[in-house]
Amino acid sequence: MQFRIIKTNGNARSCVMETKRGVVSTPAFIPVATTGTVKAISTDELKEMGAEILLCNTYHLYLRPGADTVSSLGGIHKFINWDRPVLSDSGGFQVYSLSALRKIEESGVHFRSHIDGSLHFIGPKEAMQIQSLLGSDITMTFDECTPYPSTYEYALRSLELTINWAQKCKENRKEGQSLFGISQGSIFKDLRSESIEKLVEIGFDGYAVGGLSVGEPKEEMYEMIYFTAPLLPVDKPRYLMGIGELRDVLTAVETGFDLFDCVMPTRNARNGTLFTSRGRISIKRTEYKSDRAPLDPDCNCYTCRNYSRGYLRHIFLSKEILSMRLNTIHNLYFYFNFFRNMRKSIAEDTFCNFKTQWEQILS
Ligand SMILES: [Zn+2]
Repeated sequence: MQFRIIKTNGNARSCVMETKRGVVSTPAFIPVATTGTVKAISTDELKEMGAEILLCNTYHLYLRPGADTVSSLGGIHKFINWDRPVLSDSGGFQVYSLSALRKIEESGVHFRSHIDGSLHFIGPKEAMQIQSLLGSDITMTFDECTPYPSTYEYALRSLELTINWAQKCKENRKEGQSLFGISQGSIFKDLRSESIEKLVEIGFDGYAVGGLSVGEPKEEMYEMIYFTAPLLPVDKPRYLMGIGELRDVLTAVETGFDLFDCVMPTRNARNGTLFTSRGRISIKRTEYKSDRAPLDPDCNCYTCRNYSRGYLRHIFLSKEILSMRLNTIHNLYFYFNFFRNMRKSIAEDTFCNFKTQWEQILS
């Protein structure tokens, strides 16, 4: 994978990641295709909106249909009908957030499936093996997503385990796949700094900051974003995992982060919360009952070009499947457009104005 910085504006930067399956322009939003699908829409629709990369969850695909099955059906790209880059997470986050009866050892984690209660084991070797069977373009190291709050002692032990696993992931890395390392260390600056230092020593194709947005106050999260960004190598992609609220994205881009993933635009869409150029709206509100206007007069998506707020409210309240589709199309289009305009503002040295303007709209 090649990584080039195209333009900087302060610490904000616009870059390109070149993979054998295509180019990703950053700052980039990575839609989450949890079980191999971005809920409610097709991969052709994603392409049309400008998606350049998708994230698939290793934990989910490993449990169902199984990495061997994905492999026997031609690998993740063929399986989900997507010929652009795919990033797979390592499964670490879901092992901790979804599964029951976790037992952590030096070599990995024993856990029970959240689907049928069956027993499983994933360690760094297994995580690399599964991601290899999936055939993703970018793989992630297996980590323990340190819970919040954690004591300093717990965070330290957890960090040592994560670094040890990162080393093993590097040793088991498969030809033709990029590998990103994940920093942990909770909200302790010295641990974050140690974590990044050790990851850089091992050497990865990109660096991610994990373990944020897990329940800590916003101020603590922002402090960690400000603190970690300058410690990450300049010449590699910087990925802030699981964060996609636009105000958080603006702050992170300002410090020099490049990649973001989040289920927020798709999950909110299904719940009837929609992003517009004038702020968020809840489509179920009575005020939209007889509203002929599109969701967002400034949006050019399929939903806004063809449907009124009154209709979108009606099909949302009637729990029609089309409601989820139309809302998801709009929210993702809005996100891609936001990121496109953000990259443009960096190119034109106006990122600071872009940020101020959007912070007012989003507040
Ligand atoms: Zn729209």
